[in-house]
Amino acid sequence: MADSLLIKNARRVALMDDAGTELADADVLTRGREIAAVGRGLSAEGARVLDARGCVVIPGMVNTHHHLCQTLTRATPGAQDAKLFDWLVYHYKIWRRLTPELAALGARVGLGELLLTGCTTSTDHTYLYPRGSTGLVDAQIAAARELGIRFHPTRGSMSVGESGGGLPPDDCTQDEDEILRDGERLVAKYHDSARLSMCRVGLAPCAPFSVSPELMRETAAQARRWKVRLHTHLCETLDETEYCLARYKMRPIDFVESLGWLGPDVWLAHMVHVEDREITRLARAGVAVAHCPSSNFRLGSGVPPVRKFLDAGVSVGLAVDGSASNDSSDMLGEVRQATLAHRVKSGVGSMPAREALRMATRGGAAALGRDDIGRIAPGMAADLAVFDTDRVDFAGAAGDPVAALALCGASHRTKWTIVDGKVVVEDGLLVGVDERELARRADAACMDLLRAAGAAAR
Ligand SMILES: [Zn+2]
Repeated sequence: MADSLLIKNARRVALMDDAGTELADADVLTRGREIAAVGRGLSAEGARVLDARGCVVIPGMVNTHHHLCQTLTRATPGAQDAKLFDWLVYHYKIWRRLTPELAALGARVGLGELLLTGCTTSTDHTYLYPRGSTGLVDAQIAAARELGIRFHPTRGSMSVGESGGGLPPDDCTQDEDEILRDGERLVAKYHDSARLSMCRVGLAPCAPFSVSPELMRETAAQARRWKVRLHTHLCETLDETEYCLARYKMRPIDFVESLGWLGPDVWLAHMVHVEDREITRLARAGVAVAHCPSSNFRLGSGVPPVRKFLDAGVSVGLAVDGSASNDSSDMLGEVRQATLAHRVKSGVGSMPAREALRMATRGGAAALGRDDIGRIAPGMAADLAVFDTDRVDFAGAAGDPVAALALCGASHRTKWTIVDGKVVVEDGLLVGVDERELARRADAACMDLLRAAGAAAR
């Protein structure tokens, strides 16, 4: 079986099934693109054997919100201590110089880091298209294929600039017909709804303060026509709530509901400032949430009521968010952040490590409307993250090596990351990528962007 992998003698395999099964000294066998078997003492002639002694195996994690282009503008001087609206206005003048080449470079860095930290499926939300630019999302899809990650890009948009009362400068916005046409093009060209799909396209107007209600409504109609998912930022800051109240006389959730945006095909990023009665409505509508703890803390936006979402039955996935507000695409780091965050808001027992891991796997799969990823079982996608816990940063955690993934660990790199049955991270390194060369190119691009915008303070 040349296309088989046998992960042998793992310290623990956390299946993320409904019962929360975890097997000790267990094996996972993949065949082609799927998981073929899980258990002890498995054998398969001709399979490549990965010796997983000392390792913890979990389903590949799912990142439900990202802006890969921002990977080239991490730790931006001048915006490190700004809240969302000021931070955005500062970055618009940098991001307005994006090109397809830069989009591909940012995607290679961001998606590479995600793979290295155990993520096997990621979304992207590109919403700033410099005037005249085409092919940003196409370039990201090409980069995702090259790296071998499962990809859910969304066609973002901004159509209301400063002159129309929106936040972005006018030259960072696009004509609404052009936006709708490009969304249609991308769905037709790349969206694959089949089981085990490697690419599904979604539609994602940026936020209430940068698009019109008409565009939100028309985008929802498009998505339903083509059966693709809808995504946007919502309830991220109190500034946004005030904007919606002042402009539309509605809170953000009432606003999007009035445009047909509360449904089981919608997942919303952030959802920090949400009232209890609104949580019930979200659960009833089947809306999912992309929870981005590091970004919410970095921008001082607040701590979302995730415990209440989960208790109400809302699907919650985990997300690193754009790398200008995290400033990292460390998926396991985000699990740790989520484990810690809610203890401050909702009590020490409110977010066990396993529940954060479940959000990062099962929760993310649900948020993206997929039943073929996020769990280890025969017939599921062969997407796996194998962490070596036989290291000094996990030493002394033998009592619970699964929880240790969230509670310990200085380095979050996997030993192996497997996507679609292929090894894409081998011994902690991206397969087929010169990481140093990639980092050098990203740093050079970063400095060019900063200089061009007059933002290179240091
Ligand atoms: Zn975002």
